Amino acid sequence: MRCAALLAISACSDSRSALQHALRQPTLSGSDVIISRVMADPSLVPDDRGEWIELANLGSDSTDLRGWQLQSARDPGFTIARSLVVPPGETVMLGRNGDSTVNGGVHVDLVYTGIVLGNSGDWVVLRDATGVTADSVEWDVPPTGSPIDHRSDRSVKPTTRPAPATAPASSVGPPVPNAESAATTTPTLRPRATSTQPLPSPRELIVRVLDVGQGDAILIRNGGSTVLVDGGPTPYALGDHLDALGLNGSTIDAVILTHAHADHYQGLRELFASRRHITVRYFWENQDPSPNVTLQKLRDSIASRVRAGSLTYRDTDDPCVNGQPICTVTLKGGARLHIMRPDPDGHGANNRSPAIKLVGPDSASFTMWMAGDAEAEDIGWFTRAGYRGSPGMRVDVLKADHHGSCNGVTDLYLDLLKPSLVVASLAAANDYGHMHSQAKAMYSRHGVPWYRTDQNGTITLRSPGEPGSRYTVSVERGGKNMPGPSDRRSSSPECER
Ligand SMILES: [Zn+2]
Repeated sequence: MRCAALLAISACSDSRSALQHALRQPTLSGSDVIISRVMADPSLVPDDRGEWIELANLGSDSTDLRGWQLQSARDPGFTIARSLVVPPGETVMLGRNGDSTVNGGVHVDLVYTGIVLGNSGDWVVLRDATGVTADSVEWDVPPTGSPIDHRSDRSVKPTTRPAPATAPASSVGPPVPNAESAATTTPTLRPRATSTQPLPSPRELIVRVLDVGQGDAILIRNGGSTVLVDGGPTPYALGDHLDALGLNGSTIDAVILTHAHADHYQGLRELFASRRHITVRYFWENQDPSPNVTLQKLRDSIASRVRAGSLTYRDTDDPCVNGQPICTVTLKGGARLHIMRPDPDGHGANNRSPAIKLVGPDSASFTMWMAGDAEAEDIGWFTRAGYRGSPGMRVDVLKADHHGSCNGVTDLYLDLLKPSLVVASLAAANDYGHMHSQAKAMYSRHGVPWYRTDQNGTITLRSPGEPGSRYTVSVERGGKNMPGPSDRRSSSPECER
């Protein structure tokens, strides 16, 4: 029997209570201003009067938005030039028109210019005063007459802010239900008295494919559990994300290094920098011998934490230490992570990457497959190892194997995974020709669009985790299926067959 959930891990480990404790430690902290709702397509009043963007402070500290910026796909954007303080647990409303008698009855705290919200595909990004992205939201076709609920979900409650008593004097015709009035529905977030309170939506799953250059680093958060798959090519690239996401001083419950290449492990060294005060509870890797000095330094850091009793070190070849090929970890919000043994005889480090299947709290609405830099040999092994039967290979999102290399995808692989989206992690300037045109052609033949970190920045996937919900994708810039400056056709014989 394969390891299932926390209890199964405990069966293979003497650290049952430690892991249960680890996966129940909430880690979100500090100031956290996000885009909570966006009215992109009002119906009671024209767009140039009725569009608005609501921001919410999920953190524990007041935040002054002076100098913060909003930008959309096709517009110059807007910088908040004056002081605009958002107390913890509160929201502010930014609108194109500040007159509630003509804007659909919305109380606007600040009028913005330079942004027109598209009704056929657009995105909005919120950046802090230093230019670091705080949040973003993307849509294809927005709802008409009601806002896009990006992050308000169950963390909000109706405000006491009064609605207009009557229809605007300028309105014509019969009274219209004030469906668009943000005043009647403006959410107030439950205040977070301390930084150790749980995430506002305990089942929400957030996957960030971090823009770290040529490499992989994928951060997963669910109900207070935090998991990192690979760490990217440099400590400073991952360090920037650790800073921006408020992970210093936090606990990362599980780290999975897919294989012994620098573009996956170098950034992980930053987790062990003493100034960051980060606790890592579990660390998986294939533990293959490597001549690489910097990998040895990472392994020395791991060994030191193991000796101190704070870290459990696991081998992806025996991920639950019970001789079984699959180990399943359940996160606090109900998401599950299946860690699957790589090809034991894989040639080269890439073909020693395990497969990882992430299953959202609502498995029908979000699943994702990640397999490091697995090439055709390792991929073929996944298809024969029984993984298509259990845990099943069908997923919603595929992390492109090997940065969109032609040797990281096969027709059979896509036939089994049937993803609706591919996300690739790579640098715009890379020496490998990634993404290879053969890989892009294969994705296209299978009808699968892609986002890529070199062109789209960090890619964020969110699943509310509730039955019937859908996952959403937001990117920092650009659209789907973009080309990159290094893309070329590979002349590798294995891709020319
Ligand atoms: Zn790589």
